[in-house]
Amino acid sequence: MKNLLKQAAIIGGLEAISALRLGKLMPAAAGRGLIFTLHHVRPRTPQAFEPNGHLEVTPEFLQAVVEECLAAGLTPIALEDLPHRLADPGDRRRFVAFTLDDGYRNNRVHAAPIFRRHAIPYTIFVTPGFVDRKVTLWWETAGALLNRVDRLEIDLGKGRERLPAESHAQKVDAFNRLCAAVNGGDQTRVTERLDEAALRAGVDPTGIVDREVMTETELRELAEQDPLVRYGGHTLTHPVLSRVPEAQLSHEIEASMEMAGRYGGRKATCLAYPYGTACSVGTREFDAATKAGVSLAVTTRPGVLTAETMKRPTAVSRVSLNGLYQKRRYVGALISGIPFRLKG
Ligand SMILES: [Zn+2]
Repeated sequence: MKNLLKQAAIIGGLEAISALRLGKLMPAAAGRGLIFTLHHVRPRTPQAFEPNGHLEVTPEFLQAVVEECLAAGLTPIALEDLPHRLADPGDRRRFVAFTLDDGYRNNRVHAAPIFRRHAIPYTIFVTPGFVDRKVTLWWETAGALLNRVDRLEIDLGKGRERLPAESHAQKVDAFNRLCAAVNGGDQTRVTERLDEAALRAGVDPTGIVDREVMTETELRELAEQDPLVRYGGHTLTHPVLSRVPEAQLSHEIEASMEMAGRYGGRKATCLAYPYGTACSVGTREFDAATKAGVSLAVTTRPGVLTAETMKRPTAVSRVSLNGLYQKRRYVGALISGIPFRLKG
């Protein structure tokens, strides 16, 4: 219910901003443009339970977003070029950078052709653990599993417990319980237990990674074929970084930057923190990225680019293209920057 109310408030805000054309009244709120976050880009295949629905948009919506950005006068830019462009006092343009997290194959199939058509650079943030099939996508596994079972037996650190998952509401509760366990504890252990439960129910977690995430060969091919693509680091194993011990933190960042450079055949300079929320990354992680030589690192904290952005280049906000709000008229509201000012 809380989520529903929150969604209604967001939609209400986007509708109001778009209907009242508030962007025209508050042009300063738009700042210097924005960085979009995407995950999956693919045609819709509806499922009964879609806990990850916010993480996918259709190619048609991405096309509409691109058109709206160009119509609004935003200049497309590669993320890695933002630091020096924003630092140039003689350059007053507003920019848009497109970023895609996790390295999904559908990025190549469905997003790349749209970017190519408009000569728009884009950055894919890769997690070598996914590329090498050593780490599974726990949220995808959980979604597939909960679509299949009507109860889930799993040890989330306090002994074996039974999570009912018969009704939609129960599935939502079970999914939220898994999220809380990942955020609050040992993601590796929770993922292992979840993978075991999935295999028992006939869901193959590694098969999901195989189906969804590009291999090293595919990443190298894309980089060779498409001069518009850049790769950035997304950590080695996609952990909640705030839970990672100090000694492991720099390795998570540095190894992913190095591998992203290898896949792309050029040095990677940008990083996206996994999850990227206020509770999963903070000052310690921003400092670790700076120490690792990252020139720009992005969170998923919502916000547009401003004159202040490059004062903290390893803590840069983005705007998520949320699969739950795929309306062309919302795009102008996002570009206006007003939703992020209202939140304070
Ligand atoms: Zn991610």
